[in-house]
Amino acid sequence: MLFSLLEMLFFAGLAGIPGWFLGGTLGAVFGALLALVIHGVMLQWKLDRLEQWLSTPVLRQDPPWQGVWREIAERVQRLLRQQQRLAAVHQKQLQDFLQAIQASPNGVILLDDEARIEWCNDTAAAHLGLDAQRDRLQHIVHLVRDPVFARYFAQDNHASEVVIEGRSSSALSLQKLSVQLHAYGEGRSLLLTRDITAVAQADAMRRDFVANVSHEIRTPLTVLSGFVETLQSIPLGEDETQHYLQLMSAQSDRIQSLVVDLLMLSQLEGSQLPSTQEKVSLAALMLQVTTEGQAFSEWMANKGEGPVHQLEFAPVPDVYLLGARSELLSAVSNLVSNAIRYTPLGGRIQTHWSSTAEGLVFSVHDTGPGIAAEHLPRLAERFYRVDRSRSRETGGTGLGLAITKHVMQRHGGELRIDSVVGQGSTFKLVFPQSRVVVDLG
Ligand code: ADP
Repeated sequence: MLFSLLEMLFFAGLAGIPGWFLGGTLGAVFGALLALVIHGVMLQWKLDRLEQWLSTPVLRQDPPWQGVWREIAERVQRLLRQQQRLAAVHQKQLQDFLQAIQASPNGVILLDDEARIEWCNDTAAAHLGLDAQRDRLQHIVHLVRDPVFARYFAQDNHASEVVIEGRSSSALSLQKLSVQLHAYGEGRSLLLTRDITAVAQADAMRRDFVANVSHEIRTPLTVLSGFVETLQSIPLGEDETQHYLQLMSAQSDRIQSLVVDLLMLSQLEGSQLPSTQEKVSLAALMLQVTTEGQAFSEWMANKGEGPVHQLEFAPVPDVYLLGARSELLSAVSNLVSNAIRYTPLGGRIQTHWSSTAEGLVFSVHDTGPGIAAEHLPRLAERFYRVDRSRSRETGGTGLGLAITKHVMQRHGGELRIDSVVGQGSTFKLVFPQSRVVVDLG
């Protein structure tokens, strides 16, 4: 700066000397002024060039000047480079930050001080049916048209969350979202959304389960306490007493079966997957199932005063299953005992083992009443029964198929059901080849 001033004075002085010679003092002043004007014009011209140079991508260009102008240009160049590096770092940090929010399983929406959308991640867009680009700077309440949300938004206190219906809801399934507003900065807010459909479903299932268990236990307990009261209050003969005791024993058996099945279910849910080290002999397993099945059929025949079922157990392949014996026994015998319980006396029940591309398949076919197609998908749900009274009469707990399905899943297999009303049912267990061995040596 000082140099430029000195340079200007030098030129003014230099031009003043010939002016003085030509026109005296006036000539000197005129000469100096002329020099100053010329110097000013040149300065302006250089500044224009510098400005032009700066407005083009200057960072890779060599400044086309020497001396002080080159120095100025280089300094500006350095400053610009520094700024550009800083901007790149900030841009990268912002991108990383946004990517991290994008990766969040929860929805995040940034709202400005007028509750307009500044930015939202894909999860929030999917939850609330937003379009991150199209809906930018739109008021959130204009887009989320849920009266519960509008009321929540209007209130002052947002300390707790609110549950609203999500955009993925359909006639068949309801999506539940937990939504909460968090204030930050100057009047801005963060709207967080969380899909709680699974949690709400698990909660509802737990409540249903507890209600079902209570109901299943309360019924026989009520009957039992009624009999106890009768025995206590009315003097009965030996035969009558025996009759009542038999009825009481049936009720306590019912409670016991329920408790056994509940324990089995909870053990299946809480324990580690069955080992692939334990080998279970199929022949021994089926011997037990056959013996128990025959005894059960005889018991049914005695009780119903009719002919026993025609039980046809096909030959068992000479292989071993890898898994938990008690679980496998339970899965197989549940299917056999169901077939016996739901098939009228004298009906035919056939079991069959076959080796297919999918694995080893065990099937139980009966000539019972069959099951309507609409019940099939729900049959393995806990306490789901098609024929409630038949289930109770024959000691069913409503948990047999749920246990079987669970056991099969734990062994990497599958439970399949085919049935035609009026023609009977076929229940199949498919064991993967990885769980079947011919001989372990
Ligand atoms: P339950 O103890 O009531 O038999 P399950 O879970 O074993 O419970 O079976 C669920 C329901 O499926 C039964 O209540 C019954 O209505 C139906 N079911 C099961 N097996 C058969 C079958 N072989 N034939 C007809 N219905 C069956």
